[in-house]
Order: sequence, then C-alpha cells, then structure tokens
Amino acid sequence: MQVIIAAQACLPILTLGIDLLDKWKDIIIYPSAFYISRDEQDSNGIIHHKESILSGEAWSKGPVILSWDDIQNDLQPIHQGHNVIIHEIAHKLDMLNGKANGMPPLHLEMQSTQWTEAFSSAFQRLNKRLEHHHRVCVNPYAATSPAEFFAVFSEYFFSAPEILHNHFPDVYQQLQMYYRQNPIDRSQ
Ligand SMILES: [Zn+2]
Repeated sequence: MQVIIAAQACLPILTLGIDLLDKWKDIIIYPSAFYISRDEQDSNGIIHHKESILSGEAWSKGPVILSWDDIQNDLQPIHQGHNVIIHEIAHKLDMLNGKANGMPPLHLEMQSTQWTEAFSSAFQRLNKRLEHHHRVCVNPYAATSPAEFFAVFSEYFFSAPEILHNHFPDVYQQLQMYYRQNPIDRSQ
C-alpha cells in the first residue's frame, strides 16, 4: 500500500522536487469512502454544516486521507482520468500559498494572468455545459469550485492527458508549465 501510494504521490512533483511537500508526513488510509459531518466556516465567517461521503481529503496543515477502495479502482483502465492520490497532492500544492483556490504558487517564468484566463474560461465553459445538461468529457465534480477544478484537471493531466489536451488545450499548456512535464509524450 505504501509503495502504490508513494509512487503515485511522487508523480506530480517529479520535476518540482520533494521540498514542496516537506511540511507534511501523515497519510491516513481508510478501507473505503468515508463519511464526514462537520461545521466549516466560509470566507465571510458564516458556519455551514457539511455532510458528505469522500474518497479523499487533504488538510492544509495536516494529513492526506485516502480511501483504499478508490485507489484500487483508479488503477483500472475504465477509471482513466480518476486518481484520488494525484487529486489530493494537487490540493496540497494549491495550499502552499494559502487556502486552496485553484492557483498554486506559479514559477517565475509563468504569468498569473495567463493561468487565470485559461482556468477561468474553462471553468465557466464546463459550468455552462452542465447547466444546460450537455455531456461533458471530464468528471463534473471539477465544476464545484476553482480548487476542485485544479485538482480534477490535475488527475486528467497525469492519467488521461489526451482528453485534457484535446478539449482544454489552454489548461493543458498551463499545467504542463506548472508541473514541468508533458504526460502525453509518455502515453504514446
Ligand atoms: Zn478535492
């Protein structure tokens, strides 16, 4: 279990370096998806009660929690584009500059305006298609928030790069610059 998780967790930081994750060491593995029930405060100070079933969760100053069932499912070809480990690592990277908001600290050679443009327009496009009940080629969970969008698109970037490259080339390009990898080369 440790090797399977570690190998996938290393993929996003393959060229970025292990230092990005050095403030975190705990991974909790649950046998399957887990139920949470808690109060959460939003940016306006309003408390919301949240109850959900999760396959994974990343705490900003705490552990990553993963469902082993989901990890195993993600390894099946039919689940291409789904990878709970990469999803939670993306949240960890996103939280390096504060609350997860869909934009991790960018490299010097990158431009935040280009990142925001590519991600915002893709996020809006996805939400519009879902509002109109049109078919979408990615997990609709990406439309929940900019933070989830970044995490879900990171899953596709590494586990189904062709889908992302064909349908969201601008986002693919930004992720390629951020992760400093081009997974499409590996999958051919
Ligand atoms: Zn998430």
